[in-house]
Amino acid sequence: MPDPLAGLEDACSKPDGSCAGRTHFVVHQTVAGNLTKKKIEDQFGGNKGKAHQYVLKDGTIVPLWPLDTEGVFATKSETSKKPVHGTKPSFALKGKMVHTEIDYENNGKPTTKQYEALRDLYIEACKHFGRILTIVPHIEVDRGFADGHSDPQDFLYDDFYKLLADAGINMARVPRFDHDRYWGKKSFKIPFATDTFSWPPKLTGNPHAAPSPTDALIAMDTALIGAGASKKKKKVAKKKAVKKAAKKRAPAKAAKMAAKKKAKRKLAKKAVRRKSKHRKGRGGSR
Ligand SMILES: [Zn+2]
Repeated sequence: MPDPLAGLEDACSKPDGSCAGRTHFVVHQTVAGNLTKKKIEDQFGGNKGKAHQYVLKDGTIVPLWPLDTEGVFATKSETSKKPVHGTKPSFALKGKMVHTEIDYENNGKPTTKQYEALRDLYIEACKHFGRILTIVPHIEVDRGFADGHSDPQDFLYDDFYKLLADAGINMARVPRFDHDRYWGKKSFKIPFATDTFSWPPKLTGNPHAAPSPTDALIAMDTALIGAGASKKKKKVAKKKAVKKAAKKRAPAKAAKMAAKKKAKRKLAKKAVRRKSKHRKGRGGSR
């Protein structure tokens, strides 16, 4: 079988992923499992914060946006949000991905028809952009973001790649998310808050791996600077609090003193008055 992608440009291989145009084919899962063409059009029509296309359980493809439409996005990485760990590139990620949603319920798995439709969509998308697209799941694209997504659940990457190979595609040319980066360990299916974002997305290895030694040193430095700063801040805050309390106490003290003085003065005045009364009385009444 001739390779349907034979004449196309190779996938983006720039280390910073800065090739012009769309470079990544992102696989998603809606957790409905009962979507229809009408439901998709009624609920998501006109919304650019949705995928380009949907694949129903029976393999029906429902396009929502043409692949070229500007501003379509379906991940946090394409918004202004920043990852908790890792840094975004200087260029916008909106416009770098093609988004496809496979519709199957929570904790379910795609149907054979859905894998086949996805194969067709992948070939179509590559042909459309004239380039081999890198295959990556949503779970990887939003890695390192708070509340990162975990879709598509239980997607069989190797089964999907076999379908592509069977269609004649030279898979040596297709950069793709490694089956074991999801299936290697149970914990790999869940994004961790400590994971690190990367663009281009990482495709192999332990997704929860500790950062490389240099990254770790930089992280440690930043943490130490942070800790030092917060200690200093705490000290300053404490000093301020003491001063404030003293100020608060001061007027109270002054008032007390003033009251005491006033009372003393009153007593003294009374005494003088009494004395003079005496004198007056003595002198006057007589
Ligand atoms: Zn998704």
